[in-house]
Amino acid sequence: MYTEDTIAAIATPPGIGGVGIIRVSGTRCFEIVSTLFQAKGTVPLEKRPNRTIQYGHIIDPQKGNKILDEVLVLIMRGPQSFTAEDVIEIQCHGGIVVVREILKVLLRQGARLAEPGEFTKRAFLNGRIDLTQAEAIIDIIEAKSEQSLSVAVKQLDGTLAKLIRTIREDLIALIAHLEVAIDYPEEDIEELTMEETADKLRPILVQIDTLLATANRGRLLRDGIVTAIVGRPNAGKSSLMNALLRENRAIVTDVPGTTRDSIEEAITIEGIPVRLIDTAGIRETEDIVEKIGVDRAKEYLESAQIVVCVIDASKPLTPEEEAILHSTSGKNTIVFLNKADKGAVVTDSMIAQYGTFTVVATISAANGEGMDILAEAVKQLVYGGTVQNESTALLSNVRHITLMEQAKSQLQTSLETIEAGMPVDFVVTDMREAWERLGDITGDSLRESMVDELFSRFCLGK
Ligand code: GDP
Ligand code: ZN
Repeated sequence: MYTEDTIAAIATPPGIGGVGIIRVSGTRCFEIVSTLFQAKGTVPLEKRPNRTIQYGHIIDPQKGNKILDEVLVLIMRGPQSFTAEDVIEIQCHGGIVVVREILKVLLRQGARLAEPGEFTKRAFLNGRIDLTQAEAIIDIIEAKSEQSLSVAVKQLDGTLAKLIRTIREDLIALIAHLEVAIDYPEEDIEELTMEETADKLRPILVQIDTLLATANRGRLLRDGIVTAIVGRPNAGKSSLMNALLRENRAIVTDVPGTTRDSIEEAITIEGIPVRLIDTAGIRETEDIVEKIGVDRAKEYLESAQIVVCVIDASKPLTPEEEAILHSTSGKNTIVFLNKADKGAVVTDSMIAQYGTFTVVATISAANGEGMDILAEAVKQLVYGGTVQNESTALLSNVRHITLMEQAKSQLQTSLETIEAGMPVDFVVTDMREAWERLGDITGDSLRESMVDELFSRFCLGK
């Protein structure tokens, strides 16, 4: 076990709920909980069967055994528990006060308040889960849609880690073969020619490339597709956003420039998370408050995966709209010719003069149109022409992608070193680097500080 002390924390979100759960983990788990748990019968808590639920009361031993709450206590002995240590979960009534009172007594009786993510960190340090699985737990907690959840769940079952370990095994086998030849030149070991080494290295690079190819889709599903809605004031951006949300969350007004700042809303299209951003009008302005909104709108425009350009088609194009069209040309842009119900004076062919756009469509946002066109663009972006493949592990985490790219570049360097006819030592050095970077992904070779940094991202009680 990585540490001796016993930790406790509230595992349910703050606030009032049906039940509150307090989680306790560590070697003194049973001993500590026994001092404040009063069950029916005479069998002590430690003697009760594993993976069972016990009914009883939580008492405060320092207040003459005053009853704090009626509870259910869940017993999970290590190593078959989440942390691989002895774990007890106390389910009490969901009020904030009750949950805190019980935690307070636990801490007084010898438990230590867990740091954020410490339960998951223990599970990792005790070898119960690998790092990609730990990170998947964060992603599951934060998942924004069914698709992002399924990416995370796949990571949690270890699919990604298995793939990476296979790559590492291939690599270490190759490294070992080369190193033996370096270290024991007098031995009669069948030496790999540089040509053979390169031939063994290339398929490893192909495997890495295959995984990296899934990164884009993985990240879109995990973080959501940033969709920036741009257009001059009064074009109908907020109306469109409302139509997409099917509820009036953004404020619709008749006064130009009322949407001062960017407003973000999250929607889900066929399980894909989409972040809708109603930007302030992108135009030159003197107003400081508005200026901040405008700068941010430009940033969103830069980072957006889909740009939705709303034009008031009931009036001739203004110079401002022409400028907006120019600045969104060549991106993945949907141009909506809005207010079709008022009669359109702006047509598709006129828009085509200002650049290249993914789609140009005439709609009436006020009548709730536009959703199907956006949905098509979203699916196209995520799945392209390809059929959705349920079985592939997706690389979705920025940390994983970065390390994978580093490993790839190290291996490419080894290949170049081979081609340049350099000594085998140099080749092996880069291969070792790549092997370590891959190990950093799964946590098989990981530095302590990185572990702390990672787990601090969790919330309390996880
Ligand atoms: P924004 O400034 O671009 O966000 O524009 P708004 O969504 O606030 O809309 C400005 C005005 O245009 C409001 O009075 C809307 O009711 C109106 N409007 C928006 N879309 C349509 C539409 O499709 N048809 C008509 N007739 N009016 C619309
Ligand atoms: Zn608006």
